[in-house]
Amino acid sequence: ATPMSVMVGVGKAAEYGALIRQGDALQTAGKLDLVILDKTGTITEGHPAVTSVHSVEGDEQQLLALAAGLEQHSEHPLAEAIVNHAKELNAEPLKVTGFEALNGKGVAGQFEGEPVRLGNRRWLEAEGLSLDGLSDAEHAITEQAGTPLFLAHGTKLLGVLGVADAIKADSEAAIQRLHDAGIRVMMVTGDISATARAISAKTGIDDYRAEVLPEDKADVVNEMRSKGYTVAMVGDGINDAPALAASDVGFAIGTGTDVAIESAAITLMRGSLHGVPDAIEVSRATVKNIH
Ligand code: ADP
Ligand code: MG
Repeated sequence: ATPMSVMVGVGKAAEYGALIRQGDALQTAGKLDLVILDKTGTITEGHPAVTSVHSVEGDEQQLLALAAGLEQHSEHPLAEAIVNHAKELNAEPLKVTGFEALNGKGVAGQFEGEPVRLGNRRWLEAEGLSLDGLSDAEHAITEQAGTPLFLAHGTKLLGVLGVADAIKADSEAAIQRLHDAGIRVMMVTGDISATARAISAKTGIDDYRAEVLPEDKADVVNEMRSKGYTVAMVGDGINDAPALAASDVGFAIGTGTDVAIESAAITLMRGSLHGVPDAIEVSRATVKNIH
């Protein structure tokens, strides 16, 4: 490509709010045939809220107080949702000691001499708890594309909280544009399969990988590249940085973390997924002009 046509393309993309930080990304973007999207903060708004509280013993206030006691020590978006909900309902967070955040699992601490845990099914089951009694409440949450978080104190299961994050208003339309351009769209998330399935169905995503640990997102990118795809990764979080760097073209959501932005070739200033098909269209037009 001539430096001139690339400059024009970079300028055109910038008009759409897609800031191209690495010059060759503009040319590669037109060749993409797979776009991998992070879920939280990328497809969804990234501001989850508590949508339901289900206590085994019927004391929702107490359950919230304990959950907030744990989550007030965490910086995860899920934690913020729980702390805010407790505040709204005047549930004073209980004093939890020895706080620990466990990647891809949940949070833990000590309360009244016993371990207290809040997190996903897989982890609590691995800790020896049976969650069978909460299956109905769990399904009601996942059907609404929410994330179920289970709370246990010692060996006692206390209940389940539903936390949901709204899908961005234009995510579905942007995904449709990618399909129209002949591009396959995949989602990769640390969240569970049932929730990932619901989000995929609502937005038209072709395929998803769920329960992917933060450090394993880049493996999914590498796997798809080795299958012959030219892969874009789109993400906002610290844990997306290695996947952004491993992809052919990384797109960081502009409102995301600095680490994500530094690892990506393109920054989407408008935070909307439309920036991805915009950049691809500009790239294809630019490359066509060169030949
Ligand atoms: P993602 O950013 O894709 O949602 P994470 O690795 O941050 O992935 O989280 C994966 C899962 O781990 C969450 O869906 C949740 O079940 C559990 N989890 C992580 N952090 C917390 C937390 N602070 N409180 C409760 N559960 C958590
Ligand atoms: Mg995210």
